[in-house]
Amino acid sequence: MEISFAGKRALVTGAGKGIGRATVLALARCGAEVTAVTRTQADLNSLVLECPSIRPVCVDLSEWETTEAALKDIGPVDLLVNNAACAMLQPFLEVTPEQFDMSFNINVKAALHVSQIVARGMKARGGGGSIVNISSQASQCALQDHAVYCASKGALDMLTKVMALELGPYQIRVNSINPTVVMTEMGRIGWSDPEKANAMTSRIPLGKFAEVEDVVNSILFLLSDKSAMTNGVILPVDGGFLAC
Ligand code: NDP
Repeated sequence: MEISFAGKRALVTGAGKGIGRATVLALARCGAEVTAVTRTQADLNSLVLECPSIRPVCVDLSEWETTEAALKDIGPVDLLVNNAACAMLQPFLEVTPEQFDMSFNINVKAALHVSQIVARGMKARGGGGSIVNISSQASQCALQDHAVYCASKGALDMLTKVMALELGPYQIRVNSINPTVVMTEMGRIGWSDPEKANAMTSRIPLGKFAEVEDVVNSILFLLSDKSAMTNGVILPVDGGFLAC
């Protein structure tokens, strides 16, 4: 399936590493003008070296006011990927308020905030748009030591659905991608231990983790007009994990 984003303007958060970085590069290859937002300047420098057309924005998205200031001049955006997140794993009885606030600030509140900024512009221009929130299989299935992460992704799924409801009348579609484990920097935090990894893959009918490319392909599909009537879905990219 050929997808072109020529003439489209995209913004991707958490663009420095992993899935976000690969999404930025894929969107640029498909012809989009891409704004890459992340908090480590060195990652943005290497991204721009790799693809000079990329517009870098360095900001810690967990900070509301700083984000507002950093994104005030981004201009029109047609496609948004809310990908930035953190995964702090700890047993439920040891969760601290600081870990909770940090996780919800980036995993939920930043997605809401960046979407507000972008969707206000989409609504004003009247041309519609597409927003993809990167959630997780952890939004719908309890995982050991993932209390806060699971709760934050569950919240993100509901945010996706309400955004789809409220933004749909402006032809702004909002959908969610829910991957299984991907061996990025974040994936390695929870799943480097072979015993844990094998326990997880044994519950995935396809018997393997997802590759970054599997997730990126689904993001591109939901951003594109190929999914023009798809709105408010929670799309697992999980080899069947959530089906059984
Ligand atoms: P990585 O940790 O590899 O990359 C996350 C990116 O987000 C980094 O560039 C990071 O920057 C950036 N980021 C984190 N916090 C902030 C912040 N406060 N402000 C700005 N940027 C920030 O993660 P993945 O690529 O693995 O994950 C991408 C998405 O996919 C996330 O939403 C994650 O929850 C989801 N997901 C991942 C899975 C996995 O197994 N990897 C499975 C299911 C879902 P920096 O490095 O500078 O902190």
